[in-house]
Order: sequence, then structure tokens, then C-alpha cells
Amino acid sequence: MSTIPILKERRKQIYRKGEAPFEMSCDKHSLAGSVSQRACVFCGSRVVLYPIADALHLIHGPIGCAAYTWDIRGALSSGPQLHRLSFSTDLQEKEVIFGGEPKLYQALTELIDTYQPKAAFVYSTCIVGIIGDDVEAVCKKVGREKDIPVLAVHSEGFKGTKKDGYKAACDAMFQLVGTGATEDIAPASINILGEFNIGGEAWMIKKYYEQMGVQVVSVMTGDGRVDEIRRSHRAALNVVQCSGAMTFLAEMMKAKYGIPYIRVSYFGIEDMAKALYDVADHFSENPQIKARAQALVREEVNAIYPRLQEIREDLAGKKAAIYVGGAFKAFSLIRALRFFGMQVVLAGSQTGNSEDYETLRDMCDQGTVILDDANPLELSKYIIEKKADLFIGGVKERPIAYKLGIGFCDHNHERKIPLAGFKGMLHFAREIHTSVTSPVWQFVPFRQKEVR
Ligand code: SF4
Repeated sequence: MSTIPILKERRKQIYRKGEAPFEMSCDKHSLAGSVSQRACVFCGSRVVLYPIADALHLIHGPIGCAAYTWDIRGALSSGPQLHRLSFSTDLQEKEVIFGGEPKLYQALTELIDTYQPKAAFVYSTCIVGIIGDDVEAVCKKVGREKDIPVLAVHSEGFKGTKKDGYKAACDAMFQLVGTGATEDIAPASINILGEFNIGGEAWMIKKYYEQMGVQVVSVMTGDGRVDEIRRSHRAALNVVQCSGAMTFLAEMMKAKYGIPYIRVSYFGIEDMAKALYDVADHFSENPQIKARAQALVREEVNAIYPRLQEIREDLAGKKAAIYVGGAFKAFSLIRALRFFGMQVVLAGSQTGNSEDYETLRDMCDQGTVILDDANPLELSKYIIEKKADLFIGGVKERPIAYKLGIGFCDHNHERKIPLAGFKGMLHFAREIHTSVTSPVWQFVPFRQKEVR
């Protein structure tokens, strides 16, 4: 498989550090027929809005679109579970010919009467864009009748990349921002953006900031609540995780409400500590916040360090491949893997921009393969060629790793334990250690050949 050729049109989206001048093409539509790992626009918007637990999420389209994203993420909630039900208008041939607006109206009114949500999001899918339903008009009508925000999410799957879905979600959410009561908001206050509480990370991170004396007005969208989003415009700072998903919202809030934002990552000891210190530095008029952050980091690191050192002994020298949604996560993972003495031989993302890939190039070792918008064959080819011991990715990368007979770590949708924060680093270490050192890999045919 390592001898398979790369599609000619894809060559500019693959770069091997040190072998040619850096010229990486990215931020463009997937090549038709290349079977991209990338998700569609609808999926991009769905993953951002999905964790808002007291909202109704109605997918206007065929049932297949809803099935694609149904309960796919952990996105834990400390209260309501309405987000997990994932409703669909289940469009059929009749609606495709005569229009789906009446069915959408009927579904929306019935669902709002039954579940009494705080708001409703209506996602447009490919077919809705093709038949031209006026989703916005139906949402407005139902919103007036039921007296709750009913928001159209313009996420027709074909109209761009997953990143356009993030933007569609942010546009919808921005209509909620600035519509709620803002009493009891402290001067040292933040919104956490781009943290989706897959395995309980949002709770952990929120607690860190609260221990520092910083009020968290809203988490968007992990364990999210409509009323918190509505009052988020009075927070003093937006703290944005990851490169892609919520930067759009942070930009819009900066333009309209003058809220500055910083970008952070919560993965790995270094980046987690920096995320706390950067917020403390923003509120430097209160030195107590920085002092509490330092004490917190010291205590948390001391608690996990001895075990991390033991794990490092086993992992040093192993090779890892990384393929994630946003490139910002790849930066943190490279730093975290370096801590264990592991070498990153492949690094790629679905939605990185040229600035991201330049950073990746600078971070990676000579010979590392950097990929934009890859497909299964390309990933397999380079994993085999580079003899990776571990693949870190999401739900669509898992089968590739297992078919190739190497360890895998889910750093995306389906995991059940938190990998962010200081405790998350220990979970991450345990998980990659267990996977990479599992005795099962000795039975993989190509390894048996190596032994003979
Ligand atoms: S919106 Fe389009 S591309 Fe996305 S799941 Fe539905 S049919 Fe597929």
C-alpha cells in the first residue's frame, strides 16, 4: 500500500518537511472522488451547536443527515438532555417535489409544544438548499407564534467545507448573544468558546478559572444553556479554544460588543498552564488571580508528574501520526507527545489554513509528512511508510489504525473520558500507553513477518 500513487490534484496539499520548498495549498473544497476524511457543512454546524442542552435541534432534511450526527458526541450535560434527541423532518420524495416548508412548520410547532425548549435550531441540509425551502421564513413565523428564538442554521452540506458549517453555527448563535439579562457579571469574567464538554472537560476547565477568581459567564457550547449565551455579551474576555470552530463568533462579539479574545488550548501541561496564565495576565490589575493560577498549576502538576515520568520511559522513541479537525489541536498534541519523547511522523488537519501549516512545518521534525484534507489511502500510505506506532484522530480514523494494526487514540467525537486539563493529560498518557504497548500488535501479520 505504501507504493500507491497520490492523486495529481492532491499533491500540493501534501508536504514532506525538508524535501522541497514549502508550498502548501489549503482552505479549498475537497477534491471530488478523493474520499476526503472531512465532514460536510451541516456536520460542522451540528458539532458546534449540538452541546446546547436546553435547545431543540431539528434537522430539516432526509433522515440520513440526522443519523450521520445522531448522538455522535459525548457532549455531557449537567441537566437537560434534549440535545441528544436529534429530531429530523425526514423529507421524502413528496416534499422534494412540492416543498418541505409545511412539514417543517408542523414538526417545529409540535416539537416546541411537546418539549418546551429555550430556543430551537433548524439545520438546512443539502436537499433543502436544492429545493429552495424558505427555512428562515418558517423559523420567524414559528418564533413569533411560540415566543422563543427559532434560528435557521444555513448549513447546506454541499456549499463549502466543514469550516463553513462552523460559521453558520456562529451566525445562528450570534442572534442569541445580547438578548439576556446581564446583572451579577463580575469585572473579571470570561466566556469559554470552543469547548464542547465531550468527556466533562468544560466542567474541569470552568473549575480551574473559578478557583482563580474568574467568573465564567458562559461555556459555548459545552454543557451549554441558551440563557447563558444570551447574556454572554457582558463578559470581559472571550477565551477561544481551537483554531476554527468559534473564532467567527469571537470576532463578531469583538466587533459588536468590544470584547477582546485570546486563543488557547487545554491539551498538555504546557498549553493548559498557558491558558490559565494568559487569562490571569488579562486581569493583571488583580494580582491575586495570577497568584492563584500559579498555585493551582503547581498543585495539579505535582499530582500527575510522577506517573507521567513512568509512562515516558515506555513511550520514548515511539512514532505517532496525528490527523485532527483543527490544526490548533495538532500543535498541542505535538508538544504533548514530545513530552513523552515520541516522534511525530505525520501531522494533518481537515480545516487548517496557511498560517496553521506554517506553524506545523516549524514545529515538526525533518521528514514529517504534513497533510491537508487527507483521505484514507494517503493516511495509510504514510503511516506504513513511516512505521507509526500510534494514530491519533477521530471516529473516521479509528478503522484505519486498526486495519493497519497500530495503536489508536480518539481525540475527537466518541471518547468518554476527558483528555484536556491536567488530569486529562494523565488520561491521555494512560490511553496512548495502553494502546501502544498492547501485546495484541505482535499478532499483526506484517509484524510477524518482521520477526521471522
Ligand atoms: S447535509 Fe448533505 S453532505 Fe451533509 S450529511 Fe446531509 S446529504 Fe450528506
